[in-house]
Formats: sequence, C-alpha cells, structure tokens
Amino acid sequence: MEPKDTTTNEAFKGFTNEACPFLPCHPGVAREFNCLFCYCPLIAYECPGPYQVFTDRNGLKRKDCSACTLPHNGYRRSWNFIQRWLEKPKLWDGGDQDPKRIKEASSE
Ligand code: SF4
Repeated sequence: MEPKDTTTNEAFKGFTNEACPFLPCHPGVAREFNCLFCYCPLIAYECPGPYQVFTDRNGLKRKDCSACTLPHNGYRRSWNFIQRWLEKPKLWDGGDQDPKRIKEASSE
C-alpha cells in the first residue's frame, strides 16, 4: 500500500452514498457531497462549524450540526478541512459557538 502522501489517487478522500435515503442531509453543499465524514470527527472538539448547542435526555451538551456543510462540501476540500482541524485538536467544552470563528471558516 502506498503512503498517503505519495499517491496521486485521491479516492480515499471522499465518496457519495447515492443509495442513502437521507442524501442530501445538509442543505447548501455546492461541490461533490462527501459522505466520508457522516459522523464528523470534530464532534467532540472545537470546530468552526455553525452548530447550535442542545442538552440531550441524559443532560449532556451536544452539538446540532444540521446547518454545517464543512465536512461534506467537496471530497478534497472537506478532507483537507478535517485534517487541518485534527492536527491540534482541542476538546470542546460544551459552550456556544463563537460567531467570529464561523466567519473565519467561511472565508477560508
Ligand atoms: S459544526 Fe460542522 S465541523 Fe463542527 S462538529 Fe458539527 S459537522 Fe463537524
């Protein structure tokens, strides 16, 4: 198997599950819809997505990521986005999203 940084085949960076009954699950995706990050790797970490916070039935703070397209918008683009934010992950403290961070992410 080739190391990821030497292959020119980028098929591992994403796919679209056309058979999924929920596709498209997030509105506003303009590029190829990437299903690879269906369960976003950043759910427990700080991220720049436009999430809302709610409390689940066990009293835990959770992110509602319905309005976020960052892990889905284009295979290469969303792959790069996730890798960048996993380089130095910081645990999410359950707090509300900072609108400034959303703005920065939308201009990337
Ligand atoms: S807001 Fe977006 S980037 Fe953040 S955890 Fe949710 S889906 Fe992932």
